[in-house]
Amino acid sequence: MLQQTQVATAIPYFERFIESFPSICDLAQAPLDDVLHHWSGLGYYARARNLHKTAGIVVTEYGGDFPNNIVGLMELPGIGRSTAGAIASLSMGLPEPILDGNVKRVLSRFFAIEGWTGSAAVMKALWALSETLTPTTRANHYNQAMMDLGATLCTRSKPSCCRCPLSAGCLALKENKVAELPTPKKRASLPVKKRYWLVSKNQDKFFLTQNPQVGLWGGLWVFPAFETYDELLAWGLKKGIDENSISELDEQRHTFSHFHLDYTAIICSAIEKQIKISEPERTCWYQFDSHVKIGLPKPVSGLIQALSKRDEK
Ligand code: SF4
Repeated sequence: MLQQTQVATAIPYFERFIESFPSICDLAQAPLDDVLHHWSGLGYYARARNLHKTAGIVVTEYGGDFPNNIVGLMELPGIGRSTAGAIASLSMGLPEPILDGNVKRVLSRFFAIEGWTGSAAVMKALWALSETLTPTTRANHYNQAMMDLGATLCTRSKPSCCRCPLSAGCLALKENKVAELPTPKKRASLPVKKRYWLVSKNQDKFFLTQNPQVGLWGGLWVFPAFETYDELLAWGLKKGIDENSISELDEQRHTFSHFHLDYTAIICSAIEKQIKISEPERTCWYQFDSHVKIGLPKPVSGLIQALSKRDEK
């Protein structure tokens, strides 16, 4: 969860997750829908799919114990070099370096390294520093301290240099470059994709389809989406939606890391049986608060919740 999300946001998700899947066997045996259900709203769903796959591999191929070396860890889905280093050092006491976002920031400031930290050249330089600096004993304490330093003192904005134990040797502080390091990525403006969502309602249930496991919102349940309103209408009429019941909500924007999704929800009534007969695969009628365990992206669950509450009134 912490690969892309801040601790404060992840904590309630983590607590619910651990309560439902207290061991790696529980996670491996759980249906993916249930795992994605616990991840709903957290974003970057590939993390959940990879975690589930990894649990399966650890149980079936390693008898329930994680591989005890960096190469074996990095072969597991979703575990890159830094995460492997964190697992190896924090849980096994191995002297492996890490390079998460916090450590990148501390190192690039302390050594005044210019250039975007995602570029190959800067990454290479930072990994070399991290390898050199990581001690052979107590690497777990060192790595934790570096992450905590980045999270609490050497923060992205307004770092507390006056309280920092590294301030005497920090080049960014000496050269008055703290605010400009690490060098941010040059941002091109994000492309925009427009979609029309068919929100078919049958009393308090909503028609959803499941995305393929691979790709955007993979494995999650969503409203049928179309590039144009005409395509949506043609599809909907074939499935027997009531044309007279159609209404439209204002366009909304959801931003992914690489594009903006502008979506317009087209609400209509539909007959439950009719759609389900013609689309039996990977479809369901979902009721808000029904305790059915499926994964829903935040904009979809938000819309279902808002429309259910509106109709209750
Ligand atoms: S002195 Fe400031 S910029 Fe340098 S490492 Fe400490 S908090 Fe970061």
